Amino acid sequence: MSNTPGLTERESEAPDVGELTPPDRTLMGPGPSDVHPRVLKAMSTPLVGHLDPSFVEIMDEVQELLRYTFRTDNQWTIPVSGTGSASMEAAIGNLVEPGDTMLVPTNGYFGGRMKSMAERAGGEVVEVDAPWGEPLDPVDVEAAFDEHQPDVFGFVHAETSTGVLQPNVPELTDIAHEHDAYVIADCVTSLGGVELRVDEWDIDVAYSGPQKCLSCPPGASPLTLNDRAMDKVLGREEQPRSWYLDLSLLEGYWGDDRSYHHTAPITNVYAIREALRLVAEEGIEERWARHRAVAGDLKAGLQELGLEMNAPDEYWLPSLNAVQVPDGVDDGAVIDYLLEEYDLEIASGLGDLEGDIWRIGCMGYSARPKNVEYVLSALEDALA
Ligand code: PLP
Repeated sequence: MSNTPGLTERESEAPDVGELTPPDRTLMGPGPSDVHPRVLKAMSTPLVGHLDPSFVEIMDEVQELLRYTFRTDNQWTIPVSGTGSASMEAAIGNLVEPGDTMLVPTNGYFGGRMKSMAERAGGEVVEVDAPWGEPLDPVDVEAAFDEHQPDVFGFVHAETSTGVLQPNVPELTDIAHEHDAYVIADCVTSLGGVELRVDEWDIDVAYSGPQKCLSCPPGASPLTLNDRAMDKVLGREEQPRSWYLDLSLLEGYWGDDRSYHHTAPITNVYAIREALRLVAEEGIEERWARHRAVAGDLKAGLQELGLEMNAPDEYWLPSLNAVQVPDGVDDGAVIDYLLEEYDLEIASGLGDLEGDIWRIGCMGYSARPKNVEYVLSALEDALA
C-alpha cells in the first residue's frame, strides 16, 4: 500500500523513465530504412493546425510531389494517415464492394494480406498461383481472369517477403482492363526506388509506405487513384466498412473543400514533404538508377562472399535483396550478431521463406555505397 491514504502504490509513484536514447542503428532490413537528416530536421519544426492556411499549402505541395514520384497526373493522390497497411486498406476497402470478386496473388506474404483485407471488405477472393520467390506469369493471370472474371485484380509490384520484382506490369494491366477489372498495385517497396509509372502502365490504384525507398518514418502513406477508380468508389451503393479510411469522406479534407475529417499527423506530413522534396531534387529516374547501381554493388559483393540471391537477375528487386542462407548457418544468430556487434539491422525470411533467406534492404538514404561496404564487411565477419 502507498503512504497516501486511498492511493495504491501504482497511483502514487511516478515511473522513473530516463531520456530517450535509441541505439544508432544502420537500417539495412526490409524497412524502415535510414531516415535522411533533412527529414528528421523537418520533423522538429513547429506544429501548425491541420486546417491552418500554411498547412493547406503544404498539403498541396505534398500532393504535387507525390504525383511526380508516382509518375501520375491523378487528382486523387494523397498521403493516408497511418502505415502502409492503412493506404493498402484504403485501396482495397474502398474499391472492393460486398459481392465483388478480387483476384490476388499467392507468391508472397503481402498477397495474403490483400486477400484478408478483400474478405473483410465483403469481397470474394480468388487466387492466381505462383510459388514464393517467383513473379506472376501473365499467362496464369489471363487464365485466372477467364475462369473467375474478377472485378478487381491486386498484385505486389515489389514483394518484400521474397525480393521479387514483378516484371511485365503493362501486360498485367492490359489483361485486367480487357476484362473490365480494376488494378490495385502494392508499391510499398518500389515507390521512389524502382521504376514505377502509374499512368503509363495504366495502374488504376497504387499505394505505398514512406519508410522504404522514401526513407521517411512511417505515418503518412502514399495512395493514388485514377478517375475511373474514384468513380467506382464514389458510386458505391454501400459505404465502406471503415469510417476512417472512407475515401468519399477523406475527399472533403484532401479535395477542394479542405474541411475537417480527422486531425492529420502534421509532423509526418512535414516528413514526407521533405522526403519527396529529396526525390524531386535527385530526379526520379536518377533515383531509380542509383538504387540499381548501389544495390547492384551489394548483390555483386554478396556473390563474392559465396552467397546466392534468391531471385534470378530478371526479377531481382534492388530495394530488397533476398539472399539464401548457406547450409549449416543459423540465420537468426547472424542477424543477432550484426545487431549486437555492428548496430546493423538485416532481417530474416517471412512465411514460406522463414529460415531460408536473409532480407537486406537497399532503400532511399540507406542505398549508399558506404552502407553497402558496411553490410558486406559485417557479413564477412559474421560468416567467418
Ligand atoms: N505491402 C508490402 C509489400 C510491404 O512490404 C509492407 C510492409 O512492409 C506493407 C504492405 C504494409 O506496410 P506497413 O507495415 O507500413 O503497414
